[in-house]
This record gives sequence, C-alpha cells and structure tokens, in this order.
Amino acid sequence: STSSILICGGAGYIGSHMAQWLAERGHTVTVLDNLSTGHRGAVRWGRLIEADLMDPAGLKRAFSGQRFDAVMHFCARSLVGESVAEPYPYYSNNVTGTLNLLEAMRDHDVSQIVFSSTAAVFGNPISEAIDEEHPRSPINPYGASKLMAERFLADAAHAYGLRSVTLRYFNAAGALPEHGIGEAHACETHLIPNVLRAALGQGPALKVFGNDYDTADGTCVRDYVHVQDLAQAHALALGFMAREAGAHTFNLGNAQGFSVQEVIATAASVTGVQIPYDVAPRRAGDPARLVASSEKARRVLGWTPQWTALEPIIESAWRWHRDPPSWSPHHPHAHAHAPGQIA
Ligand code: UDP
Repeated sequence: STSSILICGGAGYIGSHMAQWLAERGHTVTVLDNLSTGHRGAVRWGRLIEADLMDPAGLKRAFSGQRFDAVMHFCARSLVGESVAEPYPYYSNNVTGTLNLLEAMRDHDVSQIVFSSTAAVFGNPISEAIDEEHPRSPINPYGASKLMAERFLADAAHAYGLRSVTLRYFNAAGALPEHGIGEAHACETHLIPNVLRAALGQGPALKVFGNDYDTADGTCVRDYVHVQDLAQAHALALGFMAREAGAHTFNLGNAQGFSVQEVIATAASVTGVQIPYDVAPRRAGDPARLVASSEKARRVLGWTPQWTALEPIIESAWRWHRDPPSWSPHHPHAHAHAPGQIA
C-alpha cells in the first residue's frame, strides 16, 4: 500500500535519495527543509515546504496543511569536526529541533517516525563489528546530539506510544546521477567527494587526516554504504513500524572497513587519475575504526544492500562529481559559498 510521507531534510543528500525511492514506488512525498545545506534543485519529487525545525509555528503549519502517515527525519547538522568547533548549533538543531518535530507530530497525531542516527553515537568502539547493543559513548558533540534524540524516541514510545525506527548510518556515500541527485555540500568535508574533486583538479588540496592511527596502514577505517541502500532500509522501516510498536534501532553499514588510503587507491583506479595528497594532523573527534554489524537489519527488516563493494559506490559518486547539475555548488558556474553556511 502507498502512504503519505513527510521527509524532513529531503532537500539534502540522503533525504533526496529517499524521496526518489518512495516516489518511484508510488508514495506521496512532501519535503520539509530550511535549505540551509539542502538545495531546491534536489527536490525533484513532491512538494517543498520551506520550514525550520527551530520554528514551531512553521512546523505547525506544515502538519496542519496535510495528513502524513509517517515522518522521516534527516534534518541535522552532521559534521564531526564542525561539531567539535561549534557545538551549540549541533545541540540546538539536532536536539531542540528534533524535540520540536516530535511535539508537532504528537500535536497532530502522527505517530510513526524513522530517525537518522549515526555510528558516531558509539565513540571509540571496543569491538570489531559494531552491533546495536555496543555501548554508546560519543566522543564528539555530533554523536552526543544524536544520542540524546535517540533517547527522546525511547521515552516517547513509553509516554505517547510513538513508533520509531532509528537507523544509525555508518558512512553514507555514492549518488544516483541518472536521477540527478548526489552529494552537493557547499563546504565539503567528506572523504569520497574530496578525493574525487581532487581527481578533477577541483577543491582544496587533498589531506589525509592522520596516518598514525592503530590501523593496518595508520589511516582511519570506515564502513561505506550507498545512499540508495540507506533509502531501501528506511522504506523497510516504514513497513516494520506499521506492524511493531515501540522504539527500534538498527545499524546500517556493509560490515567491511576501508582505510582512507584504500579509498584513495580505489578512487585512483575508478578515475584513472593518480590522486595527490598530503598527510595532515588528525582531525578532532575521529575514531580510528568504525565498522558495522548490520546483521539485525538484514534479519529483522529484510534489508538486502545492493551496493556492497567500494568500487561501484565510488564509481556512482564519480559520475555525479564529473558532471554536477547547475544547482550544485560544485557546478563550474556556481557561487563559491552558499549563504548561511558555517565555514
Ligand atoms: N578524511 C580525510 N580527508 C578528508 C576528509 C576525510 O582524511 O578530506 C578522513 C576523516 O578524517 C575520517 C574519514 O576520512 O577518518 C572519513 O571522514 P568523513 O568526513 O568522510 O566521514 P565521517 O567518518 O567523519 O562521518
């Protein structure tokens, strides 16, 4: 059956891939976004409501105008390094903003939400593969802000009967260039886009943040998962929530770790370009290794990720970055800086 879904943050990287997935399968999609880091051009499916989670009146208008069966909440500040330097906007957007959204949902009898969380809630992991029960001990404000919101959902299940699925993403990557969407941050900090832009001779010189970690080659190890596979998991979560009450949590990754150096080497083979880089000091807030166990998502949700190797993930991102649409800040004629960003 089809449903009406409010995608908060649907003008952003992961949210736009969610809109594509749902719209293609006949669901009614509405995007709510403040366009602080998202783009009007990325809203290709469904109506855009320009509203900010920090403005309860705007949220009230959004929920009064239309009936939603469920909410997907992708609105967040999500950069580890920035959160260390500027924690306040992380707590206001990710904590207070989420609370405002949950209150608006309760006031309008919308009782199902899929929430975007992160591997950053785990801090420095104490086991190889991180499952859902792994202790949460964030080492940066970003992870701490997401962990607080996870707690809201558990409390709201008990108090208000809110149904929720929290999905903790490891490293979201890749794009769907054939659908005109991909990663398009005015101030890009993520590894794969930075590597690919370096291959194009664009953006700042590539830096590897630390090669003295306790890993095989000394660089940080991460678990890269394609945004379309994340979208699939969210869609499965919708069906799961309709059947199961309570607050549920799943980790989403490919259960395979790649070091920063391995990502650069794979990108070199995908692009055919030898990519120059410098080794720089460690970035504040980075754990050495984050690799998921997604056994629970596969078993309970029936999640079957399609993009399980690094090469096709990077290849999809490469096709996107080589030829960005005019609305992307990486388009050759785009302005260097979008308004409202925290530099
Ligand atoms: N990284 C890097 N150079 C860059 C961007 C990232 O060395 O230009 C490293 C970063 O320190 C981390 C890994 O790549 O170890 C992944 O970082 P990213 O920002 O992509 O994702 P995060 O794991 O912080 O969510």
